[in-house]
Amino acid sequence: MSLPLIPAAKPIIGDDERAAVDRVLRSGMIAQGPEVKAFEAEFADQLVAGRQCVAVNSGTSGLHLGLLAAGIGPGDEVIVPSFTFAATGNSVALTGATPVFADIEPDFFCLDPASVRASITERTKAIMPVHLYGHPAAMVELRAIADEFSLLLFEDAAQAHGAQLNGAPVGSFGDFAMFSLYPTKNMTSGEGGMVACASDQIARNVRLLRNQGMETQYANELVGFNARMTDLHAAIGRVQLTKLAGWTEQRQTNAGLLDAGLGGLAGVTIPPVHDDAVHVYHQYTIRVAGDRNRIVQALREEHGVGSGVYYPIPNHRLPSLEKYAPGLDLPRTEEAAQQVISLPVHPSLTTGDLERIVAGVVAVVKAGS
Ligand SMILES: *Cc1c(COP(=O)(O)O)cnc(C)c1O
Repeated sequence: MSLPLIPAAKPIIGDDERAAVDRVLRSGMIAQGPEVKAFEAEFADQLVAGRQCVAVNSGTSGLHLGLLAAGIGPGDEVIVPSFTFAATGNSVALTGATPVFADIEPDFFCLDPASVRASITERTKAIMPVHLYGHPAAMVELRAIADEFSLLLFEDAAQAHGAQLNGAPVGSFGDFAMFSLYPTKNMTSGEGGMVACASDQIARNVRLLRNQGMETQYANELVGFNARMTDLHAAIGRVQLTKLAGWTEQRQTNAGLLDAGLGGLAGVTIPPVHDDAVHVYHQYTIRVAGDRNRIVQALREEHGVGSGVYYPIPNHRLPSLEKYAPGLDLPRTEEAAQQVISLPVHPSLTTGDLERIVAGVVAVVKAGS
């Protein structure tokens, strides 16, 4: 293989991030402190219309603490998609509640409101959609269902920093929303998560749970975790936040070029965007009709194009989570899990890279038809 591999994802870490970390190291105060506080305020302003934000050590911690803060626990059911990263269902299970897996709608890969409605029981406490790949879930319909049945509504916005629906940012719809800051996400703090909260009470509870249940030192009010973000991580996140809008625009431009190149290709479905939505393309995910493994392999070996399959096994069939859904059949989830390929769309791609990705997909798909 002579062509250099175009990676499926590429975190961008520059001199600004290095300088910020160095500044914190030199300050001698590296655990949670003023940088975390500033990061929370800046994130709130820039991304979630001023909702209170609480930074934690990972996105998964953010989901777990958010659910606990909202009162989710044993005996409760929370409706989640199965077509997502396992952290979504894991976080529900970790509270002692039961994740109930619903199907996705066929276009945007997100929770199908009709399937959610059909999954409601007397124990249902909440709905937690995922804005998968950076496309907002159907929050208007899900909010209507939540209100009709007096359910809480949460958002797994791990992949969707800056995405919008009807002009409002994701993270401003649910009782709480979690954004992941893992390196492959649209922005990073190294590891980390941000919880955007609709109420002072949920925000206070997340803060307590983050820090051993303490607001006042050594006056622990509840049994909590150490899920604090360090100032080192927050300093990286603050720099990345200033660059996010530009990176998002570049992702959208890249997606437009992939759309133009692949739009008419038989055997490939490009990712649609809802009329009311702004997609931030954490992933650019196509569906293919042909043999997916062959396509993924040929892209890499013959064209130097990396790609990813997110996610090959629906969560309700994972050994870890299948006990919550014995015998469940989610046909659209199964179909997506067999068909999806995510192509590189990250902001470091050159025009030449994008041309190579398009040419590679066209050649590989045509060769298989
Ligand atoms: C990345 C991700 C998470 C977990 O975030 P971490 O920061 O890796 O813990 C949760 N849900 C989804 C959909 C994700 O993509």
